[in-house]
Amino acid sequence: MHDGTLRAEPDKLKEECGVFGIYAPGHKVAQITHYALYALQHRGQESAGIAVSNGKKVEMEKGMGLVSEVFDNINIRRLKGHIATGHVRYSTMGSSSLLNAQPLLIRYRKGNLAIGHNGNLVNGRDIRSQLEQAGSIFQTTTDSEIVAHLIARLKDTSFEDSVKEALSFLRGAFTFIIMTEGKLIGIRDPLGIRPLSLGELDGNYCLSSETCAFDTIGADFVRDIEPGEMVIIDENGLRSEKYVSPGKLALCIFEFIYFARPDSNLHGINVHLARRELGKQLAKEYPVEADLVTGVPDSSISAASGVAEGMGLPYEMGLVKNRYIGRTFIQPSQKVRSLGVKLKLNAVKQVIKGKRIVLVDDSIVRGTTSKQIVGMLKKAGAKEVHVRISSPPVTFSCYYGIDTSSTRELLGAQKKVEEIREFIKADTLSYLSIEGMLSSIGLSPDSFCRACFDGKYIVEPDSKMKKNIFEKINR
Ligand code: SF4
Repeated sequence: MHDGTLRAEPDKLKEECGVFGIYAPGHKVAQITHYALYALQHRGQESAGIAVSNGKKVEMEKGMGLVSEVFDNINIRRLKGHIATGHVRYSTMGSSSLLNAQPLLIRYRKGNLAIGHNGNLVNGRDIRSQLEQAGSIFQTTTDSEIVAHLIARLKDTSFEDSVKEALSFLRGAFTFIIMTEGKLIGIRDPLGIRPLSLGELDGNYCLSSETCAFDTIGADFVRDIEPGEMVIIDENGLRSEKYVSPGKLALCIFEFIYFARPDSNLHGINVHLARRELGKQLAKEYPVEADLVTGVPDSSISAASGVAEGMGLPYEMGLVKNRYIGRTFIQPSQKVRSLGVKLKLNAVKQVIKGKRIVLVDDSIVRGTTSKQIVGMLKKAGAKEVHVRISSPPVTFSCYYGIDTSSTRELLGAQKKVEEIREFIKADTLSYLSIEGMLSSIGLSPDSFCRACFDGKYIVEPDSKMKKNIFEKINR
C-alpha cells in the first residue's frame, strides 16, 4: 500500500516488482545481479534483495530502500556462488515491510528455496486460507510464500514436478524466479500478463522482467518467455516446459504506456517507439492549434515527441525534473504535498511565456499532479495549456499486481472528461481512444490486458478479492 511518502511519480499507477536471475559459473553473479537491479529500479523502490547459491547453500541480503541503499561492496562481496536471483519491490497486496521484502528464502525438508515474484494471484487469499486450515503458518503476506508452501507440501515428486503442480493451483498475473541450491527456474503466467525475458551472457543464461537489464550487464537478448512457460536452468543447460496449455498473450498494456523503461523491448517492440506511436495517434485524434509541445518528464517524453511530430509542432523542454530529490519525503500536510511537485519539477519560463502549450502526459490517476503542473505552466506565463493524455481514462481497478487503489480514487472513474478538465484547470483535455491505443503499439490489438480501461477482466478476480476491494472502497 502507499505509505504516504513522496516517490518519483506519486500520481501514477505503481508497478509492483522487478525480478532478475542468472546462472553463470565463473562469474561474480551477486555483482551482476546488483547492476541488473539498478536497471530495474523503476519497477520498485521500497525494498531490494539478492539471493546467491554456491551449489550447496543459499545466502541472501535484502533490506528496505533503493538498491543503492540496501547494497554496498561489503554485503555484495559476502554473496558468493554461481546462481543468483534479485528482486526490487513496490508493495500492493502485502504491506511494505522487511518481512515482505524479496526474494523470500525458505529452508524446508528438501533444501533451500529463494523465490521472487512480480504480479498478483487473484486466488491468493483463497489458497492461503486453505493452507492455513491445513496447518501452514505464514510469516509474510506475499504471494511468493503461498507458492513456497505449495511446493514444500507436495511430497514424493521431483522438484520440478512439485513446482508444476503448485503452479496448477494459481490464477492471476505472475512471473516467478525460483532458485534452489542447483537450479534457476523462470515462470510466466498462462496469459503472459507480466513480462519476463531470457538473455545470454558469455554462454550463460539470465532472466529479467525487462530487457534493459541485459544491456546494463552486457548480456544479449535471446527471447521472451512465453505465456505458460517454465524454463529450468542448471548444470545441464536450459530446458523449457509448458506447465499449462497457454492462453493467448494478454500482456499488460500499461507496460508500454508507463511502467517499462523506454530502452526495453517487449515481444519485439521497443517501448520508446511504441510510446511515440501512441503520441502520433493522439495528435491525429485530437489536433489543436498551439505553439509547442512539451512532455511531463521522464515517462511522457516519448509520447510527447510523437504528438509533436503528429501535430507538426516543435518539441520543447518546457518542464525540467530535479533528479536528486530523495526517494522518501514525509508529507504531513497538503501544503507540503503540493510543494513536493515544485521540488521535483520546474517550468522553463523563457520557453513557456506567452505560448500556447500542448502538455503531454501518459496517464492521469488522481489528477492532483496534473492540476499542479497546469498551474505551474500558467504561472510561468503560458497563454493556453492543452493537455493530451497518451492513454484512455483509467476507470477500473487492477487485480493483477498494479496499485490502482480503489475506483473511488481514480479520477477517470469518478468524473467525465470535461469535469476532469475543469478540475485540472486546462484549456482543453483529450485522452487517446482505446481503439487508437490498441492499434498503435505494433502488436496484435488482442494481445493485451486493458481491463483498467474497459473493465474486461481476463482472469476473473475471486469473490474474496472483490469483497476485500469492496471493503477497502467502503471503509
Ligand atoms: Fe495492466 Fe491495467 Fe491489465 Fe492491470 S488491468 S494488468 S494495469 S492493463
